[in-house]
Amino acid sequence: MRTLVFLDLDDTLFQSHRKCPQEGVLHPVARLRDGSAHSFMTEKQRAFWEWLGADAPLVPTTARDLDALRRVDLPFESWSILVYGGVLLDPSGAPDPEWLERMRGVSENARADLLNLLERAKSHIQAQRLAARVRLVGEFERPFYFVAKYRDGRDADLAQLDAELIQPWLAAQGGAYRVHRNDNNLAVIPQGVGKEHAVRYLIDHLTHNGDEWLTIGIGDSLIDGAFIAACDYGITPRDTQLFAATFGRPLL
Ligand SMILES: [Mg+2]
Repeated sequence: MRTLVFLDLDDTLFQSHRKCPQEGVLHPVARLRDGSAHSFMTEKQRAFWEWLGADAPLVPTTARDLDALRRVDLPFESWSILVYGGVLLDPSGAPDPEWLERMRGVSENARADLLNLLERAKSHIQAQRLAARVRLVGEFERPFYFVAKYRDGRDADLAQLDAELIQPWLAAQGGAYRVHRNDNNLAVIPQGVGKEHAVRYLIDHLTHNGDEWLTIGIGDSLIDGAFIAACDYGITPRDTQLFAATFGRPLL
């Protein structure tokens, strides 16, 4: 039986410098647009990566878009799941046509809402002088989700944007969107977009001719729980958001 590993990247396999431990060797693995090193693997993360990849294809399962994935200096040779599942690339790097068509509809349905949220967030940031930046993330000219991040270490500004604008906006959408918050990352995602949808689709696609695959899901965030649950086995690094909500909870 073959094995397939669905692997979240940021904060699972590597992280930005400020989140790295003070001690120990760090290996630069992802760059900013200007080429400067931004994210690093610890020795254990590198050993984990080598162990995982030794005998299974690794499917990056990430919120990154294609440009951001290309700035990760690791060789991915299998399928790729990008922008929270909005894009599925085959091992040659071409978008899966059936998934592309399905996600085109999802993006089209959400486009006006996401643009509305973006404009309102920009106005709110300006009016309240918040140290936050917002944008839509997509691919192939299609927006798939909204993301807000704080700047200059001012995490309270992101919390303010969330409380004053994003939560009321979400409440008005009648459950059509979900929000993901983990540290400096607040994403608003249409319900039709999700890593778990793409993971399930790919597993179905690969098993439809009777092949059996052992699937493993690995991620650090609460939102990753949904795609991990679509796999046979799940792994989460210690001291992450998902770990804290599961294995790391004290026994009652
Ligand atoms: Mg992550």
